Amino acid sequence: MADKEERAGVPLTNLDQELFPGAGATKRDLVDYLDAVRDPVLAVLRDRPLSVIRVLRGQDKFMQKNLPKYTPEWVPRTAVWAEASHREVQYALCNDRRTLLWFANQRAVEYHPTLMTVADRDRPTHLIMDLDPPEGAGFDVVVRAAHLVRRALADAGMAGAVKTSGSKGVHIFVPLDGSAATVDVAAATRAVAARAERLDPELATTAFIREDRHGKVFLDATRSGGASVVAAYSPRVRPGLPVSFPVGWDVLDDVTPADFTVRTAPELLNGSDPWAAHMPQPQPLDPGLVAEGHTI
Ligand code: ATP
Ligand code: MN
Ligand code: MN
Repeated sequence: MADKEERAGVPLTNLDQELFPGAGATKRDLVDYLDAVRDPVLAVLRDRPLSVIRVLRGQDKFMQKNLPKYTPEWVPRTAVWAEASHREVQYALCNDRRTLLWFANQRAVEYHPTLMTVADRDRPTHLIMDLDPPEGAGFDVVVRAAHLVRRALADAGMAGAVKTSGSKGVHIFVPLDGSAATVDVAAATRAVAARAERLDPELATTAFIREDRHGKVFLDATRSGGASVVAAYSPRVRPGLPVSFPVGWDVLDDVTPADFTVRTAPELLNGSDPWAAHMPQPQPLDPGLVAEGHTI
């Protein structure tokens, strides 16, 4: 096939170049994957300010938040005031196939949407727990910790869906009904983490300082505070291009993150959207969790 093509009106270039040394995948593999699974991908990216991780040829990967000047005018965007850097950032809204293909051609491998949509920037759509394994641990310990979080949520009358991060850990997403503000979601997340830790303090920790974790799984409750988390179905900049992939709670013990890559995922999906299918109904935040979290 020619190295120059066009899809949905988007020029695609240098498709047969490897994405990064050791990737074992070309830009064509990335484009083909994202285009094949575009419906579930666009569903998780829609109307959310988007950061991407790009790998330019011969360079280190970098996270891009602000859209570059050369971005085509048809890429949807929204301005967000960044308090830390005291400037306005133009974030893309990846709402259509053309924008997704444009990003893929820009060597945007990873897709990191925010937890709120442009419709309501102070009401996160999900409570999120990020579970990070200790150095050298197997995936099985993260899975055991994920079950603790699931139990802590259930004790508060809440339920979530789980996905591999595509890297080492997992992410648990609890869909919210949109009534809770960011500060309260962040507080409730801290309370869930603290309760999960108490269920098995030998296995899981909420210690923010790495040296204090003592080989336990880190329950990172800080991602709920208006931040981004890599999207379900997003590839990662890692050998073989693994993807963040939804896993049913009943089969979590039987998978490993390497099962899900740009090569295996389209067939596993086969036109379905397990992330949407596994996601429970949107829920109100448990007031007990919020109150408890504000004391932590
Ligand atoms: P792993 O399974 O290896 O932990 P991960 O994607 O969960 O992979 P984390 O470091 O735990 O990686 O971070 C969780 C999420 O927080 C990421 O998916 C990303 O969206 C966001 N994040 C982390 N570090 C940064 C950063 N430096 N800048 C912006 N966002 C970040
Ligand atoms: Mn993580
Ligand atoms: Mn983390």
